[in-house]
Amino acid sequence: AALLAGAPAFAHAPLPARHLFSDPAEVEALRRNLLSWYDRCKRDLPWRALAATEPDADRRGYAVLVSEIMLQQTQVATVIDYYNRWMQKWPTLQALAQASLEEVNELWAGLGYYSRGKRLQEAARKVVSELAGRMPRTAEDLQKLLPGVGRYTAGAIASISYGQATGVVDGNVIRVLCRLRCIGADSSSLAVVDRLWDMANVLVDRSRPGDFNQALMELGATVCVPKGPLCGECPIKQHCQARCRKLFGNPPPVPDVEDCGVGDCPLCPPATEPWDSSLGVTNFPRKAAKKPPRAMRTATCVLERRGCQGTPEYLIVQRPSSGLLAGLWEFPSLPLAQDLQEKEREVLADHLQAWMGRPVAAKGLRFIGEVIHIFSHIHQTYVVYSLPLDGDVTLDPALSPYRWVTEDEFRASAVSTAMKKVWGAPE
Ligand code: SF4
Repeated sequence: AALLAGAPAFAHAPLPARHLFSDPAEVEALRRNLLSWYDRCKRDLPWRALAATEPDADRRGYAVLVSEIMLQQTQVATVIDYYNRWMQKWPTLQALAQASLEEVNELWAGLGYYSRGKRLQEAARKVVSELAGRMPRTAEDLQKLLPGVGRYTAGAIASISYGQATGVVDGNVIRVLCRLRCIGADSSSLAVVDRLWDMANVLVDRSRPGDFNQALMELGATVCVPKGPLCGECPIKQHCQARCRKLFGNPPPVPDVEDCGVGDCPLCPPATEPWDSSLGVTNFPRKAAKKPPRAMRTATCVLERRGCQGTPEYLIVQRPSSGLLAGLWEFPSLPLAQDLQEKEREVLADHLQAWMGRPVAAKGLRFIGEVIHIFSHIHQTYVVYSLPLDGDVTLDPALSPYRWVTEDEFRASAVSTAMKKVWGAPE
C-alpha cells in the first residue's frame, strides 16, 4: 500500500495521481491486458522456450542468466545465434565452469563488451565451487552472490526462472513507464530510477511475474519503441497518460489531482523544457545530455612474415586481463597522445624496436589507413601500418603473450570487432 501511495522516494512531497498507479482496479486491468497481448504476440525466443519447459531449476536459471547477460547492450536478433552456440557448447553451469577463458572469448568475439563473457564464467565457477552447483533462487541472493549480476539481471532471473514476484527496470521498461505516467524528469537520475523500480514492483503480476516482466520489455521493444511508437496497437493504451495528454491536451489544473504545480514536481519535465506538442508521447522519457565520447588515437602495426610453407603469418598479442577488451588478441598497438600526429610513425617504430629488440626504421612502416571504431564511451581511431619481416623475431614473453597466426587462425581467434575492422583496413 505504501508503494501504491508513492511514499518511499518522495515522502516529503505527495505525488500527483498522474504519476502513480494508485488504483488497484487499474493495476489489475493493466496486467490482464498486457498479459493477454503477450500470450498472443510474443516473439519465439530460444531462452523463453527453455525457461518455460526445462524442469531442472538450475538449468532454467542458467539459461536466463546467459541470455540476460548477452542481451545487455546487444540486440535480440544478434544474440540468438550466440546464445544457441553457447548453450550447445556449455549446456550447464558445470560445463561452463570448466571452459577456459580463451574459449569463452573466442565464442564471445563480435558480441562486444567482452568482460560480460568473463563475468558469466566467473558466476558459473562460483555456483559450482561455492554454492554446490545450486543457483541462488531470489533476486536478493542472485545480486548478492553472483559476480556481474546487477539488480535488473537478478530480478529477471528470479521472476522468469523461479516465479518470484519482483519487478525489473531496463531501458525498455523505463520508456514504457515514463510514458504511461508522464515522467519527464531525467530518467537516468537515481531519484527517478528508484521511483520506476517502486512502480515496477507494484505492477508486476503476482501469479505470472516472469511473463509480465517479459511482456513489459517486449512492449517497449516492439510497440512502445523510442521513435514512432505504435500507440494505436498498444494493448495498454487506455492506461497511458502520455497518450491521453497527446489526444486531449493538458488536463485542467485541479490541485492535488492531476496538476503538478508549477515547476516543482520531481517527476515532471523541467520548467525550462516543457511539453512539446510536436513530439507527442515521445516527450517521454527524457535524459540529461550525455557526455560526448572521449577521442583516442592508437597506432597499430600488422607485422607479417612468411611461415614454413610460405604462407603469410601475422603477429598478434594478448591484451591485459582487465580493462577494455580484456584478454583479447590484437595487432601490436600503442595508444598515442593527441598532439603527436606528425610523429606517429617514429613513435610506433621506437616502440616496436624496444619491444622486438632489433632495429625498426620508421620509413619501413607502410601506412595502410585509419579505422574508426566507437566503443560506448570512446571514439577510437586506429592508425594502421604494416611491416614485413625477414625471418623470425623473438619477443620477451614476460611483456605480453604473443603468437603468429595465419589469416584463418586470425579470424577464429578471440579478437575484437575493432581488430577485424583493422584487418580490413583499405590498402
Ligand atoms: Fe507507449 Fe503509446 Fe502504449 Fe503509451 S499508448 S504505452 S506511448 S505505445
